[in-house]
Amino acid sequence: MRTQLLKADESALSLAAELLKNGQVVGIPTETVYGLGADALNEQAVLAIFAAKERPADNPLIVHVADFEALDALCHVNDMARRLSDAFWPGPLTMILPKKATVPTVVTAGLDSVAVRMPSHPVAQEIIRRSGCPIAAPSANRSGRPSPTQASHVMEDMNGRIPLIIDGGESDVGVESTVVSLTGDTAVVLRPGGITPEMIAAVLGECEVADSVMRPLREGEEAPSPGMKHKHYAPKAPMTLYAGEQTQVANRICEEYDCVQGGVKPLILASRAHLPLYGSRHVFDLGPDAASAAHALFSALRYADEKGFTRIFSEAYPEEGVGLALMNRMARAAGFDIVRI
Ligand code: AMP
Ligand code: MG
Repeated sequence: MRTQLLKADESALSLAAELLKNGQVVGIPTETVYGLGADALNEQAVLAIFAAKERPADNPLIVHVADFEALDALCHVNDMARRLSDAFWPGPLTMILPKKATVPTVVTAGLDSVAVRMPSHPVAQEIIRRSGCPIAAPSANRSGRPSPTQASHVMEDMNGRIPLIIDGGESDVGVESTVVSLTGDTAVVLRPGGITPEMIAAVLGECEVADSVMRPLREGEEAPSPGMKHKHYAPKAPMTLYAGEQTQVANRICEEYDCVQGGVKPLILASRAHLPLYGSRHVFDLGPDAASAAHALFSALRYADEKGFTRIFSEAYPEEGVGLALMNRMARAAGFDIVRI
């Protein structure tokens, strides 16, 4: 299959909508990361997403809508959902709600709940509206690869596997949406993202965070969100995170960097203010703060793969605000290899 990569102009948007109506899979820009979209109500189309991504069938997809009528057709909307959607939609918040029978079980991997989101990216909204269907869309990477934040990343992973990728520029947030379960009495964040637990608690009065967010699952433990049991965001090079007082962290990273064996090509991931601490060593600039680091992380991991770095040393960030989403992705990329100094 030939894969077209088109800028998001009028004719590209019509083509995307046409393909989606016909049960095809299209790469779509959103404000979080690029998605691999298909008609959520067409079982064959949804199966084609799993095939293109090589995604395990037990990992459910998020369904994207452009309006509230479409939402009502998919799930039972409760009071918490109404308040959160008022506050944060359209935007990077996915809500888990009891599903209606219209949603095929392939979408939810057999669960009786469904994940729903209204994206704020104007191109995503336009494509959903024109296609006339709710769009099931996981991140547009092959399973186990970093999520794509640029159209070129999608091309790297999906060339020859899908007919069309729409280029809508770089994703704004850079990490996937916050996933919050609203099926119980209290909201529980299953995956942190751009909308923080603090922001959700400010609307609902309280918000829990699943404790598996910042640690690996134990042997035999059931994941509250099926996606968490799968390996995620792994660069080819082994990666280690260093947490602690900044100059001590930098000293330790420099030591490790300087004593790698011949043939090993090390890369440091660091925040902008700390760049001078690393001298002339090879450093990827994660920008001034946790939000910029979240935005840059997946590009950094792809850069490391592409340029053949074989060892990654990264600064850790405080696990608060958007730093929780960043560290959730970083810890998984590092296989939870975290050195506390
Ligand atoms: P992705 O499509 O790559 O953004 O991943 C979607 C995430 O949402 C995965 O971590 C899924 O496990 C999670 N998810 C989707 N549907 C549900 C659901 N019904 N219950 C719990 N988690 C879900
Ligand atoms: Mg994903």
